[in-house]
Amino acid sequence: MISVEEALSKIFDFIKVLESEEKPLLECLGQVLAEDVRAPFDVPPQDNSAMDGYAVQAKSIVGASHEHPKVLRVVGEIAAGCVSELKVEPGTAVRIMTGAFVPEGADVVVPFEYTDEVDRKQRSASSDEIGILVDLPETSNIRRRGENIAKGELVMKQGILLRPAEIGVLASLGKAVVSVIRRPVIGILATGNEIMEINQPILPGKIYNSNSYSLAAQVLRYGGIPKLLGIAPDDVKQLTLAVRHGLDCDILITSGGVSLGDYDVVKQVLADEGNISFWTVRMKPGKPLAFGVFKRDDGKKVPHLGLPGNPVSAMISFEIFVRPAILRMMGRSDLAMPTVTAIMEEPVENDDARRFFARVVVTKRDGKYFARLTGPQGSGILSSMARANGLAVIPENIRKVKSGSKVKVMMFDWDEIQD
Ligand code: AMP
Ligand code: MG
Repeated sequence: MISVEEALSKIFDFIKVLESEEKPLLECLGQVLAEDVRAPFDVPPQDNSAMDGYAVQAKSIVGASHEHPKVLRVVGEIAAGCVSELKVEPGTAVRIMTGAFVPEGADVVVPFEYTDEVDRKQRSASSDEIGILVDLPETSNIRRRGENIAKGELVMKQGILLRPAEIGVLASLGKAVVSVIRRPVIGILATGNEIMEINQPILPGKIYNSNSYSLAAQVLRYGGIPKLLGIAPDDVKQLTLAVRHGLDCDILITSGGVSLGDYDVVKQVLADEGNISFWTVRMKPGKPLAFGVFKRDDGKKVPHLGLPGNPVSAMISFEIFVRPAILRMMGRSDLAMPTVTAIMEEPVENDDARRFFARVVVTKRDGKYFARLTGPQGSGILSSMARANGLAVIPENIRKVKSGSKVKVMMFDWDEIQD
Protein backbone atom coordinates (compact mmCIF):
# COMPACT_ATOMS: atom_id res chain seq x y z
CA MET A 1 0.00 0.00 0.00
CA ILE A 2 1.15 3.56 -0.69
CA SER A 3 0.28 6.67 1.27
CA VAL A 4 -2.05 9.40 0.06
CA GLU A 5 0.96 11.72 -0.29
CA GLU A 6 2.95 9.20 -2.38
CA ALA A 7 -0.02 8.69 -4.70
CA LEU A 8 -0.55 12.44 -5.03
CA SER A 9 3.09 13.10 -5.76
CA LYS A 10 3.20 10.41 -8.47
CA ILE A 11 0.09 11.89 -10.08
CA PHE A 12 1.52 15.40 -9.88
CA ASP A 13 4.58 14.33 -11.88
CA PHE A 14 2.22 14.33 -14.87
CA ILE A 15 0.19 17.43 -14.08
CA LYS A 16 1.32 20.66 -15.74
CA VAL A 17 -0.07 24.15 -15.73
CA LEU A 18 -2.05 24.53 -18.95
CA GLU A 19 -1.50 27.12 -21.64
CA SER A 20 -3.28 30.47 -21.70
CA GLU A 21 -6.29 31.61 -23.70
CA GLU A 22 -7.72 35.06 -24.46
CA LYS A 23 -11.31 35.53 -23.39
CA PRO A 24 -13.94 38.22 -22.80
CA LEU A 25 -13.41 39.67 -19.32
CA LEU A 26 -16.50 38.31 -17.58
CA GLU A 27 -15.82 34.74 -18.70
CA CYS A 28 -12.50 34.84 -16.82
CA LEU A 29 -14.05 34.78 -13.33
CA GLY A 30 -12.36 32.04 -11.28
CA GLN A 31 -9.41 31.69 -13.67
CA VAL A 32 -5.80 32.67 -13.14
CA LEU A 33 -4.38 35.71 -14.94
CA ALA A 34 -1.69 34.75 -17.48
CA GLU A 35 -0.32 38.26 -18.16
CA ASP A 36 0.97 41.21 -16.17
CA VAL A 37 -1.46 44.10 -16.41
CA ARG A 38 -0.18 47.69 -16.29
CA ALA A 39 -2.41 50.75 -16.17
CA PRO A 40 -2.53 52.49 -19.59
CA PHE A 41 -3.80 55.69 -17.88
CA ASP A 42 -4.52 57.19 -14.48
CA VAL A 43 -7.64 56.02 -12.64
CA PRO A 44 -9.43 58.32 -12.09
CA PRO A 45 -8.25 60.08 -15.23
CA GLN A 46 -8.75 63.60 -13.76
CA ASP A 47 -9.41 65.18 -10.38
CA ASN A 48 -13.15 64.76 -9.88
CA SER A 49 -15.76 65.57 -7.33
CA ALA A 50 -16.58 63.07 -4.58
CA MET A 51 -19.79 64.96 -3.70
CA ASP A 52 -22.60 66.98 -5.23
CA GLY A 53 -21.76 70.59 -4.32
CA TYR A 54 -19.81 73.65 -5.35
CA ALA A 55 -16.25 73.68 -6.65
CA VAL A 56 -14.42 76.72 -5.21
CA GLN A 57 -10.97 77.93 -4.21
CA ALA A 58 -10.15 77.18 -0.59
CA LYS A 59 -8.87 80.70 -0.15
CA SER A 60 -12.32 82.08 -1.11
CA ILE A 61 -14.00 80.41 1.86
CA VAL A 62 -11.51 81.00 4.67
CA GLY A 63 -13.46 81.71 7.87
CA ALA A 64 -16.87 80.81 6.32
CA SER A 65 -19.53 79.64 8.80
CA HIS A 66 -23.30 79.58 9.34
CA GLU A 67 -23.08 82.95 11.03
CA HIS A 68 -20.68 84.42 8.49
CA PRO A 69 -21.32 82.84 5.09
CA LYS A 70 -18.98 83.65 2.22
CA VAL A 71 -21.09 84.58 -0.76
CA LEU A 72 -19.57 83.54 -4.11
CA ARG A 73 -20.68 84.20 -7.69
CA VAL A 74 -21.88 81.01 -9.46
CA VAL A 75 -20.40 80.92 -12.97
CA GLY A 76 -21.94 77.66 -14.20
CA GLU A 77 -22.65 74.00 -13.60
CA ILE A 78 -20.86 70.74 -14.51
CA ALA A 79 -22.60 67.35 -14.60
CA ALA A 80 -20.71 64.03 -14.54
CA GLY A 81 -19.53 63.06 -18.00
CA CYS A 82 -19.40 66.64 -19.34
CA VAL A 83 -16.26 68.32 -20.61
CA SER A 84 -16.33 71.92 -19.40
CA GLU A 85 -14.25 75.00 -20.17
CA LEU A 86 -15.43 76.69 -16.97
CA LYS A 87 -12.78 78.19 -14.66
CA VAL A 88 -13.01 78.99 -10.97
CA GLU A 89 -11.41 82.23 -9.81
CA PRO A 90 -11.25 83.86 -6.41
CA GLY A 91 -14.79 84.74 -5.33
CA THR A 92 -16.49 82.39 -7.81
CA ALA A 93 -17.99 78.91 -7.65
CA VAL A 94 -19.12 76.21 -10.10
CA ARG A 95 -22.05 73.96 -9.20
CA ILE A 96 -20.72 70.39 -9.62
CA MET A 97 -22.05 66.81 -9.48
CA THR A 98 -20.37 63.69 -8.11
CA GLY A 99 -17.93 62.25 -10.62
CA ALA A 100 -17.69 65.45 -12.71
CA PHE A 101 -14.14 66.63 -13.43
CA VAL A 102 -13.13 69.49 -11.15
CA PRO A 103 -12.84 72.74 -13.18
CA GLU A 104 -9.56 74.57 -13.55
CA GLY A 105 -8.75 76.81 -10.60
CA ALA A 106 -10.91 74.97 -8.02
CA ASP A 107 -9.20 73.08 -5.22
CA VAL A 108 -12.11 72.12 -2.96
CA VAL A 109 -15.72 70.95 -3.31
CA VAL A 110 -18.24 72.19 -0.74
CA PRO A 111 -21.16 69.73 -0.43
CA PHE A 112 -24.66 71.18 -0.90
CA GLU A 113 -25.49 70.69 2.76
CA TYR A 114 -22.79 73.23 3.72
CA THR A 115 -24.25 75.91 1.47
CA ASP A 116 -27.43 78.01 1.67
CA GLU A 117 -28.76 76.56 -1.62
CA VAL A 118 -31.99 75.12 -0.15
CA ASP A 119 -32.65 78.28 1.80
CA ARG A 120 -32.13 80.38 -1.34
CA LYS A 121 -34.58 78.23 -3.31
CA GLN A 122 -37.21 78.61 -0.55
CA ARG A 123 -36.69 82.39 -0.58
CA SER A 124 -36.70 82.38 -4.40
CA ALA A 125 -33.40 84.19 -4.15
CA SER A 126 -31.06 84.39 -7.14
CA SER A 127 -29.11 81.25 -7.99
CA ASP A 128 -26.35 83.43 -9.45
CA GLU A 129 -24.83 83.48 -5.98
CA ILE A 130 -24.22 80.85 -3.30
CA GLY A 131 -23.49 81.25 0.40
CA ILE A 132 -20.78 78.89 1.69
CA LEU A 133 -21.28 77.94 5.36
CA VAL A 134 -18.05 76.12 6.08
CA ASP A 135 -14.31 76.60 5.82
CA LEU A 136 -12.72 73.53 4.21
CA PRO A 137 -9.04 72.86 3.51
CA GLU A 138 -7.69 72.31 0.00
CA THR A 139 -8.50 68.99 -1.73
CA SER A 140 -11.56 68.33 0.45
CA ASN A 141 -14.08 66.13 -1.41
CA ILE A 142 -11.85 65.81 -4.44
CA ARG A 143 -10.72 62.44 -5.71
CA ARG A 144 -7.25 63.03 -7.08
CA ARG A 145 -6.24 61.97 -10.55
CA GLY A 146 -4.49 58.57 -10.31
CA GLU A 147 -5.30 58.09 -6.61
CA ASN A 148 -6.79 54.66 -7.33
CA ILE A 149 -4.26 53.52 -9.95
CA ALA A 150 -1.41 55.54 -11.45
CA LYS A 151 -0.55 55.34 -15.14
CA GLY A 152 2.14 52.71 -15.77
CA GLU A 153 1.57 50.99 -12.42
CA LEU A 154 1.73 47.16 -12.34
CA VAL A 155 -1.88 46.61 -11.31
CA MET A 156 -1.99 42.81 -11.39
CA LYS A 157 0.74 40.25 -11.74
CA GLN A 158 0.22 37.07 -13.69
CA GLY A 159 -0.74 34.20 -11.41
CA ILE A 160 -3.45 35.91 -9.42
CA LEU A 161 -6.95 34.49 -9.23
CA LEU A 162 -9.63 36.64 -10.85
CA ARG A 163 -12.42 37.24 -8.37
CA PRO A 164 -15.24 39.79 -8.79
CA ALA A 165 -13.07 42.67 -7.50
CA GLU A 166 -10.22 41.86 -9.94
CA ILE A 167 -12.76 41.66 -12.79
CA GLY A 168 -13.96 45.15 -11.76
CA VAL A 169 -10.42 46.59 -11.62
CA LEU A 170 -9.65 45.18 -15.09
CA ALA A 171 -12.90 46.70 -16.37
CA SER A 172 -11.88 50.09 -14.93
CA LEU A 173 -8.78 49.84 -17.14
CA GLY A 174 -10.93 49.14 -20.18
CA LYS A 175 -9.62 45.59 -20.50
CA ALA A 176 -12.33 43.78 -22.44
CA VAL A 177 -10.24 40.72 -23.33
CA VAL A 178 -7.93 39.04 -20.84
CA SER A 179 -5.30 36.33 -21.06
CA VAL A 180 -5.97 33.58 -18.51
CA ILE A 181 -4.87 29.99 -18.00
CA ARG A 182 -7.49 27.82 -19.61
CA ARG A 183 -9.74 25.44 -17.76
CA PRO A 184 -8.94 21.72 -18.12
CA VAL A 185 -11.39 19.42 -19.87
CA ILE A 186 -11.99 16.35 -17.73
CA GLY A 187 -13.32 13.28 -19.53
CA ILE A 188 -15.57 11.11 -17.36
CA LEU A 189 -16.27 7.48 -18.29
CA ALA A 190 -18.41 5.19 -16.15
CA THR A 191 -17.84 1.45 -16.35
CA GLY A 192 -19.95 -1.53 -15.38
CA ASN A 193 -22.49 -3.87 -16.97
CA GLU A 194 -24.99 -2.94 -14.28
CA ILE A 195 -24.86 0.82 -14.90
CA MET A 196 -27.64 2.60 -16.84
CA GLU A 197 -28.03 6.11 -18.15
CA ILE A 198 -30.41 8.21 -16.05
CA ASN A 199 -32.85 9.10 -18.83
CA GLN A 200 -33.93 5.45 -19.35
CA PRO A 201 -36.54 3.47 -17.39
CA ILE A 202 -34.61 1.33 -14.94
CA LEU A 203 -34.23 -2.36 -15.90
CA PRO A 204 -33.97 -5.43 -13.63
CA GLY A 205 -30.50 -5.90 -12.19
CA LYS A 206 -29.38 -2.39 -13.14
CA ILE A 207 -28.65 0.82 -11.26
CA TYR A 208 -28.42 4.37 -12.47
CA ASN A 209 -25.11 6.00 -13.25
CA SER A 210 -24.68 8.39 -10.35
CA ASN A 211 -20.88 8.58 -10.48
CA SER A 212 -20.62 10.41 -13.78
CA TYR A 213 -22.92 13.09 -12.41
CA SER A 214 -21.37 13.56 -8.98
CA LEU A 215 -17.90 13.61 -10.58
CA ALA A 216 -18.95 16.03 -13.33
CA ALA A 217 -20.46 18.30 -10.69
CA GLN A 218 -17.19 18.20 -8.76
CA VAL A 219 -15.29 19.08 -11.93
CA LEU A 220 -17.57 22.06 -12.49
CA ARG A 221 -17.32 23.15 -8.89
CA TYR A 222 -13.54 23.29 -8.98
CA GLY A 223 -13.39 25.09 -12.30
CA GLY A 224 -12.86 22.34 -14.89
CA ILE A 225 -15.02 21.48 -17.90
CA PRO A 226 -16.59 18.02 -17.60
CA LYS A 227 -16.97 15.92 -20.72
CA LEU A 228 -19.34 13.01 -20.16
CA LEU A 229 -18.20 9.97 -22.12
CA GLY A 230 -21.09 7.68 -21.21
CA ILE A 231 -20.91 4.16 -19.85
CA ALA A 232 -18.63 1.36 -21.02
CA PRO A 233 -19.53 -2.26 -20.26
CA ASP A 234 -17.12 -4.62 -18.53
CA ASP A 235 -15.75 -5.80 -21.82
CA VAL A 236 -12.17 -5.28 -22.87
CA LYS A 237 -12.91 -4.44 -26.51
CA GLN A 238 -15.69 -1.97 -25.86
CA LEU A 239 -13.90 -0.33 -22.97
CA THR A 240 -10.77 0.03 -25.09
CA LEU A 241 -12.81 1.79 -27.79
CA ALA A 242 -14.50 4.05 -25.25
CA VAL A 243 -11.15 5.01 -23.74
CA ARG A 244 -9.63 5.74 -27.17
CA HIS A 245 -12.57 7.96 -28.06
CA GLY A 246 -12.34 9.70 -24.75
CA LEU A 247 -8.77 10.93 -25.01
CA ASP A 248 -9.70 14.38 -26.28
CA CYS A 249 -9.33 15.80 -22.79
CA ASP A 250 -6.69 16.94 -20.30
CA ILE A 251 -7.41 14.24 -17.72
CA LEU A 252 -9.48 11.10 -18.19
CA ILE A 253 -11.27 9.74 -15.17
CA THR A 254 -13.05 6.43 -15.08
CA SER A 255 -15.12 4.99 -12.28
CA GLY A 256 -15.30 1.34 -11.35
CA GLY A 257 -13.46 -1.76 -12.49
CA VAL A 258 -10.30 -1.27 -10.46
CA SER A 259 -10.96 -3.72 -7.63
CA LEU A 260 -10.32 -7.44 -7.59
CA GLY A 261 -13.60 -8.74 -9.07
CA ASP A 262 -13.82 -10.94 -12.17
CA TYR A 263 -15.22 -8.12 -14.26
CA ASP A 264 -12.84 -5.42 -13.19
CA VAL A 265 -11.48 -5.03 -16.70
CA VAL A 266 -10.45 -1.40 -16.48
CA LYS A 267 -7.14 -2.64 -15.14
CA GLN A 268 -6.52 -4.88 -18.11
CA VAL A 269 -7.46 -2.24 -20.67
CA LEU A 270 -5.32 0.32 -18.98
CA ALA A 271 -2.37 -1.99 -18.80
CA ASP A 272 -2.69 -2.75 -22.52
CA GLU A 273 -3.32 0.81 -23.67
CA GLY A 274 -1.33 2.97 -21.34
CA ASN A 275 1.46 3.00 -18.87
CA ILE A 276 -0.56 2.17 -15.82
CA SER A 277 0.05 1.58 -12.13
CA PHE A 278 -2.48 0.04 -9.82
CA TRP A 279 -2.28 1.21 -6.33
CA THR A 280 -3.83 0.35 -3.10
CA VAL A 281 -3.79 3.65 -1.28
CA ARG A 282 -3.69 3.73 2.50
CA MET A 283 -7.03 5.52 2.71
CA LYS A 284 -10.66 4.74 3.45
CA PRO A 285 -12.82 4.94 1.47
CA GLY A 286 -11.02 4.79 -1.86
CA LYS A 287 -8.36 2.13 -1.43
CA PRO A 288 -8.10 0.91 -5.05
CA LEU A 289 -6.87 3.52 -7.51
CA ALA A 290 -5.40 3.21 -10.98
CA PHE A 291 -3.16 5.82 -12.44
CA GLY A 292 -1.43 6.04 -15.76
CA VAL A 293 -0.82 7.99 -18.91
CA PHE A 294 -2.34 7.30 -22.30
CA LYS A 295 -0.47 8.34 -25.38
CA ARG A 296 -2.72 9.69 -28.11
CA ASP A 297 -2.02 9.17 -31.80
CA ASP A 298 -0.83 12.79 -32.00
CA GLY A 299 1.69 12.12 -29.24
CA LYS A 300 -0.14 14.06 -26.52
CA LYS A 301 -0.09 12.33 -23.15
CA VAL A 302 -3.34 12.16 -21.21
CA PRO A 303 -3.18 11.29 -17.52
CA HIS A 304 -5.80 8.79 -16.43
CA LEU A 305 -7.20 8.28 -12.97
CA GLY A 306 -9.18 5.10 -12.44
CA LEU A 307 -11.40 5.85 -9.46
CA PRO A 308 -13.20 3.14 -7.51
CA GLY A 309 -16.81 2.47 -8.46
CA ASN A 310 -18.41 2.87 -5.08
CA PRO A 311 -20.13 6.24 -5.21
CA VAL A 312 -18.64 7.64 -1.99
CA SER A 313 -15.16 6.28 -2.75
CA ALA A 314 -15.29 7.84 -6.20
CA MET A 315 -16.23 11.26 -4.82
CA ILE A 316 -13.69 11.22 -2.00
CA SER A 317 -10.90 9.99 -4.29
CA PHE A 318 -11.84 12.89 -6.56
CA GLU A 319 -11.54 15.39 -3.72
CA ILE A 320 -8.15 14.04 -2.69
CA PHE A 321 -6.54 13.46 -6.11
CA VAL A 322 -8.46 15.13 -8.94
CA ARG A 323 -9.39 18.42 -7.29
CA PRO A 324 -5.77 19.49 -6.66
CA ALA A 325 -4.81 18.33 -10.17
CA ILE A 326 -7.51 20.54 -11.71
CA LEU A 327 -6.43 23.50 -9.60
CA ARG A 328 -2.77 23.00 -10.53
CA MET A 329 -3.66 22.80 -14.23
CA MET A 330 -5.52 26.08 -13.86
CA GLY A 331 -2.41 27.71 -12.43
CA ARG A 332 -3.62 27.85 -8.84
CA SER A 333 -0.99 27.56 -6.15
CA ASP A 334 -3.11 27.11 -3.04
CA LEU A 335 -4.36 23.57 -3.51
CA ALA A 336 -5.47 22.58 -0.02
CA MET A 337 -9.11 22.39 0.99
CA PRO A 338 -10.11 24.83 3.73
CA THR A 339 -9.58 23.00 7.02
CA VAL A 340 -10.88 23.55 10.56
CA THR A 341 -10.03 21.87 13.84
CA ALA A 342 -13.25 20.49 15.33
CA ILE A 343 -14.20 18.60 18.46
CA MET A 344 -15.54 15.15 17.59
CA GLU A 345 -18.84 14.66 19.40
CA GLU A 346 -18.89 10.89 19.13
CA PRO A 347 -16.23 8.16 19.06
CA VAL A 348 -14.85 7.08 15.68
CA GLU A 349 -13.20 3.69 15.10
CA ASN A 350 -10.36 3.35 12.63
CA ASP A 351 -9.05 -0.18 12.93
CA ASP A 352 -7.24 -0.98 9.69
CA ALA A 353 -4.37 1.51 9.70
CA ARG A 354 -5.64 3.55 6.77
CA ARG A 355 -6.33 7.28 6.69
CA PHE A 356 -10.04 7.52 7.28
CA PHE A 357 -11.94 10.36 5.63
CA ALA A 358 -15.12 10.32 7.70
CA ARG A 359 -18.18 12.16 6.46
CA VAL A 360 -19.17 14.70 9.07
CA VAL A 361 -21.44 17.63 9.72
CA VAL A 362 -19.55 20.52 11.29
CA THR A 363 -21.40 23.12 13.31
CA LYS A 364 -20.12 26.16 15.16
CA ARG A 365 -21.16 26.92 18.74
CA ASP A 366 -19.63 29.45 21.15
CA GLY A 367 -16.76 30.07 18.76
CA LYS A 368 -15.81 26.36 18.53
CA TYR A 369 -16.31 23.83 15.76
CA PHE A 370 -18.01 20.51 16.52
CA ALA A 371 -18.23 17.48 14.22
CA ARG A 372 -20.67 14.56 14.11
CA LEU A 373 -20.66 11.61 11.73
CA THR A 374 -23.39 11.69 9.09
CA GLY A 375 -24.40 8.14 10.01
CA PRO A 376 -23.23 4.80 8.61
CA GLN A 377 -20.01 5.22 6.66
CA GLY A 378 -20.42 2.50 4.00
CA SER A 379 -18.84 3.56 0.73
CA GLY A 380 -22.07 2.97 -1.17
CA ILE A 381 -24.11 5.33 1.04
CA LEU A 382 -24.05 8.38 -1.20
CA SER A 383 -26.87 10.07 0.70
CA SER A 384 -24.54 10.41 3.69
CA MET A 385 -22.14 12.33 1.45
CA ALA A 386 -25.03 14.64 0.64
CA ARG A 387 -25.57 15.31 4.34
CA ALA A 388 -21.88 16.03 5.03
CA ASN A 389 -20.24 19.46 4.90
CA GLY A 390 -16.74 18.11 5.47
CA LEU A 391 -14.42 15.13 5.81
CA ALA A 392 -12.83 14.50 9.21
CA VAL A 393 -9.31 13.19 8.65
CA ILE A 394 -8.49 10.36 11.03
CA PRO A 395 -4.76 9.58 10.67
CA GLU A 396 -3.68 6.04 9.78
CA ASN A 397 -1.97 5.51 13.16
CA ILE A 398 -5.03 6.43 15.25
CA ARG A 399 -7.23 3.44 16.04
CA LYS A 400 -9.92 5.27 17.91
CA VAL A 401 -10.92 8.89 18.22
CA LYS A 402 -12.63 9.42 21.56
CA SER A 403 -15.62 11.66 21.90
CA GLY A 404 -14.31 15.14 22.79
CA SER A 405 -11.02 14.73 20.88
CA LYS A 406 -9.88 17.23 18.29
CA VAL A 407 -9.88 16.30 14.61
CA LYS A 408 -8.97 18.14 11.42
CA VAL A 409 -11.89 18.53 9.05
CA MET A 410 -11.51 19.34 5.37
CA MET A 411 -14.52 21.42 4.48
CA PHE A 412 -16.61 21.12 1.31
CA ASP A 413 -18.81 24.01 2.32
CA TRP A 414 -17.02 26.68 4.15
CA ASP A 415 -19.05 29.87 4.20
CA GLU A 416 -22.07 28.53 6.00
CA ILE A 417 -20.23 27.62 9.20
CA GLN A 418 -18.26 30.83 9.58
CA ASP A 419 -19.51 33.66 11.81
P1 AMP B 1 -16.66 -1.64 -9.02
O1 AMP B 1 -15.50 -0.80 -8.50
O2 AMP B 1 -16.78 -1.56 -10.50
O3 AMP B 1 -16.58 -3.01 -8.50
O4 AMP B 1 -17.96 -0.96 -8.41
C1 AMP B 1 -18.16 -0.91 -7.03
C2 AMP B 1 -19.59 -0.59 -6.72
O5 AMP B 1 -19.91 0.70 -7.22
C3 AMP B 1 -20.58 -1.54 -7.35
O6 AMP B 1 -21.63 -1.78 -6.42
C4 AMP B 1 -21.09 -0.77 -8.54
O7 AMP B 1 -22.39 -1.16 -8.91
C5 AMP B 1 -21.05 0.64 -8.06
N1 AMP B 1 -20.86 1.56 -9.18
C6 AMP B 1 -19.90 1.46 -10.10
N2 AMP B 1 -20.02 2.43 -11.02
C7 AMP B 1 -21.09 3.16 -10.65
C8 AMP B 1 -21.73 4.32 -11.19
N3 AMP B 1 -21.28 4.89 -12.34
N4 AMP B 1 -22.80 4.83 -10.56
C9 AMP B 1 -23.25 4.24 -9.42
N5 AMP B 1 -22.69 3.17 -8.86
C10 AMP B 1 -21.63 2.62 -9.46
MG1 MG C 1 -17.73 -2.57 -11.94
